[in-house]
Amino acid sequence: MKVLVVGGAGYIGSHAARVLRRHGFDVLLYDNLSTGHVALAKGFELVVGEVTETGKLADAMKRSQAVMHFAAHAYVGESVKDPRRYFRNNVEGGLALLNTALETGLRNVIFSSTCAVYGIPAQVPISEDAPRQPVNPYGVSKLFFEQALEAYDVAYGLRFASLRYFNAAGADEAGETGECHDPETHLIPLALRAATEHGAPLQVFGSDYPTADGTCIRDYIHVTDLAEAHVKALEHLLRGGNSMALNLGTGRGHSVKEVITAVETITGKRVRMQLGPRRAGDPPALVADPGRAEGVLGWKAKRSLAEIVSTAWQWLQRSQR
Ligand code: UDP
Repeated sequence: MKVLVVGGAGYIGSHAARVLRRHGFDVLLYDNLSTGHVALAKGFELVVGEVTETGKLADAMKRSQAVMHFAAHAYVGESVKDPRRYFRNNVEGGLALLNTALETGLRNVIFSSTCAVYGIPAQVPISEDAPRQPVNPYGVSKLFFEQALEAYDVAYGLRFASLRYFNAAGADEAGETGECHDPETHLIPLALRAATEHGAPLQVFGSDYPTADGTCIRDYIHVTDLAEAHVKALEHLLRGGNSMALNLGTGRGHSVKEVITAVETITGKRVRMQLGPRRAGDPPALVADPGRAEGVLGWKAKRSLAEIVSTAWQWLQRSQR
């Protein structure tokens, strides 16, 4: 059984590819390498192409029985400044992918969605039934694709899993792949860099939130746990299970200060930091209720914040060598 991983040379896609292979699937990667890296695709067959190159994509789809779609822009701030870019890639590109899947008879789609579809939730932990009210173009673009999947399921019998990630972090334990965003905007890699002599001091975005220590709370989930949920979701669809939307998180929140403490403990170094103003659009707390994923898939995130930070630290040291 071959699975097409679109965006497979990126951070989460490259982890999913490895977990798929460990579960006995054949894997074909498709990536335009705009933010992905050839090095992360090492050991896999890679087709370099745009999702809008539908002839090329159709050829790859005809060789596959399912598709995982990771190819999207994913910076909230950038989406506010340049929504056109987000709608072009995530919406127009997404539709090109979906229509090509339909035309080639591919019926199982696993979609990389986000907790940003919920916007600012009225309560945490967040369940899948919370209203979807995104507050930035990135979240809007992901919600559009979720709704397109829902409509195509009803109209054309396409089956999907929309997997709403909380904060993906950490790296493959074997050291083959990890996070290499440019620019890097995420807390854990920036805090790790701030613990080295090369990195800039970490700016803590807001210390006056209504949380126990005043900093924002997020649900950090190890990228390999995320990847394992994708494989389970795929197996669910292949067994004939229904389409679904699932939160992928741990159900546990950590504040920015707790993350900094974990980074200091694991690296044995001090994180140079400055307390700064809030970042626009950051809700005080985002934590998943992962109960549905556990019930439907028998999946639960296994890795702790300490494992997230230590694998990310190993990856950073390896990539700086
Ligand atoms: N954060 C921070 N400084 C940074 C980057 C992030 O204080 O340089 C905070 C941010 O405000 C949020 C948390 O860390 O509360 C996680 O942010 P990240 O950008 O990693 O992920 P997001 O939650 O935006 O998807």
